[in-house]
Amino acid sequence: MNNNSSKCPLCSTLDSFILHHDVLGRKLFECAECRLVFADGSHRPDAVQEMNRYLQHNNSLDNPDYLNYIESKLGKVIHLADEGSKICDYGSGPANALNHILSSGGYTCHSYDPFFNPNFPVGKVDFIIAIESAEHFFHVHDEFARMNELIDKNGKIAVFTSLWNEKTDFSSWHYARDITHVSFYHQQTFKWIASAFGLELILTDHLGLVVLQKS
Ligand SMILES: [Zn+2]
Repeated sequence: MNNNSSKCPLCSTLDSFILHHDVLGRKLFECAECRLVFADGSHRPDAVQEMNRYLQHNNSLDNPDYLNYIESKLGKVIHLADEGSKICDYGSGPANALNHILSSGGYTCHSYDPFFNPNFPVGKVDFIIAIESAEHFFHVHDEFARMNELIDKNGKIAVFTSLWNEKTDFSSWHYARDITHVSFYHQQTFKWIASAFGLELILTDHLGLVVLQKS
């Protein structure tokens, strides 16, 4: 395949794609260089579809299940944050749950979300936590470049997203059932990201969590 419309949004590779079909009938391309799997541009949702989908989630502070979910994610990485760390919740959604939880724990948290909190933090942060947002990235390279720019020396980026592996069947995978999920990462994709941005991969559970650190 050699088609500019399917240029890898992470590493810009133009060819050597393997095609998958997901349950929504979308064409998904796998980049041979960085192994990102991504929805072709014609299958991406528009802004109205995205906003409507996000507002369907019951992600409010009144929902204990949602708060427990965010707390369980945070519990896997908070030991990596020094006391008083400046944290950025990258892709916060409308409820700012991470901000709510962290601010009561003595941390400073800035919520960023292109739809709900579109302003980036002023100055550098120590730790970016992206819970279930990287799978929504259209411009994957630009998003990681921005996160890398936002963190200070020794800063960390924790990404929570379901990783695909050789056993993943995209035609039935529940994670590919959401039209707003357009980018799927392999463990090797994060090795490519670490190498490209001068980051070190310091923690992964090989399933849905990767932490990168700037040296
Ligand atoms: Zn690529």
